[in-house]
Order: sequence, then C-alpha cells, then structure tokens
Amino acid sequence: MLSALRNGLRKNELFMLYQPQYNIQSEELVSVEALVRWQSKELGGMISPGDFIPLAEESDLVALLGYHILEQVFQQISHWLNDGVYIPKVAINISPRHLIQPDFIENLQHLANKYQIDAQQVELEITETSLLDNPELALSVLTRLKALGFSLAIDDFGSGYSSFQYLKVMPINKLKIDRMFISELEHSKSDQAIIQSLVAIAQNLGFSLLAEGVETLGQLAILKREQVDLVQGFLYAKPLSAKDLADETKDSELSDRAFIS
Ligand code: C2E
Ligand code: MG
Ligand code: MG
Repeated sequence: MLSALRNGLRKNELFMLYQPQYNIQSEELVSVEALVRWQSKELGGMISPGDFIPLAEESDLVALLGYHILEQVFQQISHWLNDGVYIPKVAINISPRHLIQPDFIENLQHLANKYQIDAQQVELEITETSLLDNPELALSVLTRLKALGFSLAIDDFGSGYSSFQYLKVMPINKLKIDRMFISELEHSKSDQAIIQSLVAIAQNLGFSLLAEGVETLGQLAILKREQVDLVQGFLYAKPLSAKDLADETKDSELSDRAFIS
C-alpha cells in the first residue's frame, strides 16, 4: 500500500473533501474540516484515510503526504477567495510526525505566501495522542504557530490518553469532543455529565468546544441545551467536494436543512 501511495501522490490520486462546522446557537457556518480521500488505480478503489494515514505516519512518506495535503487545501482556499466563496476558516488535520519536522513551520509559511493565505483562515487539528510522543517539542511548535496567527484545535479529545495537563499548557482555540461521547448521548447519563463538565472547562479556560459526529436531532437538542458551541456531523453534512460546498454555501440550504428551531 505504501508504494501504491507513493505512486498515487505522484499521479495526483489524492483529493480533499470539506465537512462544515456550525455554531450551534446562531446556525452560522464557522469553518470546514479538510478530509483527504484517495482513489487508487493500483489498488482498485477508494482507500479510507483511516487505513493509509497511519501507514504513512510510520514511514518517510508522512512529510511528503502532509505537504501535499497542505498545498491542496491552500490552493483551494485561494480559489474560493478568487471566486467570492466565503469560507471563514479551514481546519487541516496534521500528523504528529509531520508537525515536528524541522521545516514544518517554514513550509507552512512558504505555502501561505505562495497562495496568499492569511493564517487567520487556517486551523490546525492535532490529536491528543500526538502530543504524547514529544510533548515539549510539540508545545514549542504549537506556541510558535499560534503566535503566527494560526488557530489550533485538539482533535478526538477523550479517545486517547486525555490529559488535562495539555488543556492547561497548550495554546488551543478549540477542543473537539470525540464521537464516542456523542453517539450514546441520548441514553447515557455519564456522557451527558462529561459534556456538561467539558462545557464548564472550555468556558473557564477560554476555548470553544465542538461535538464531532453528530447524527441525530436528539443529540443536537442535548448539545444545544448544554451550550456546546459548535457541531459537525452527518446530521448537517457529510464531507463535501469543494464545488458542492461552494454551491451549498451560496444558497445556504445546508444550514436550513439541518437545524430545528
Ligand atoms: P477526524 O479528523 O476525527 O475526522 C472525522 C472523521 O469522522 C471523518 O472520517 C469524517 O468523515 C467522520 N465523520 C464526520 N461526521 C460523522 C458522523 O456524523 N458520523 C460518523 N460515523 N462519522 C463522521 P474520515 O474522513 O474517514 O477520516 C478519518 C480520520 O482520518 C480523521 O479523523 C483523521 O484522523 C484522519 N484524516 C483524514 N484526513 C486527513 C488528512 O488530511 N490528514 C491527516 N493527517 N489525517 C487525516
Ligand atoms: Mg480531524
Ligand atoms: Mg476527530
């Protein structure tokens, strides 16, 4: 699969989809998350990022793949800007081993200059487990990125070795609660209690809270009641192509369809 991925990168077989994230109270689109897809000729079909990202992360392809993804997303943001499509912010998943490459920040700035992208338009999503490998280095890189104006989000919070230490020291803008706390939300008092506590922590520490993988109106109602800030999930939209996202944004059907009042 690794050699097919290497070839796939060269042949431009990878592309990005974008999944909207909404403010739960105002119903406004606040950002989209870029999610990579790979249509492999050699392997004869669509390969899930859940399969090839971990593999790339264990190989020397991680930086090449990460750079390729950054470039595709930055190029897309510049197309949207030129076409007058308003996408407030784009979140990009960053592999831990890519983040700590010595030239990561330099490359990011190079691409931002090349495509005339403002750091305010970009959010970098890091998984909490990624911070465990080399916490000091990760912290220093994240602090520099934040100083440059990039937003930072912790992804899949609660799924790994959640450490409140990170919430204390990391300069984050957003915490994404893992889907595992959302899927049973309607029936689980414990999950509801966890959400309530995270809302209090987010408010006190001053970052926003996003619920991942929201699929039902029942989940939405609880998240709204508990004053979670942001939502993302199939209830609103699946990951969309850049074109579909632009079309949906223009007539704003996307938000009208999903929300209940
Ligand atoms: P993630 O960053 O937590 O992304 C969210 C995943 O949940 C996406 O799967 C998305 O399609 C899926 N999802 C969103 N809403 C729902 C929902 O309501 N229900 C369910 N069941 N699933 C939902 P996807 O695109 O297959 O990505 C899986 C993981 O692969 C991502 O998890 C991320 O860790 C990684 N990944 C994806 N794209 C990239 C990328 O460009 N770079 C890196 N480094 N990792 C990526
Ligand atoms: Mg993510
Ligand atoms: Mg996630």
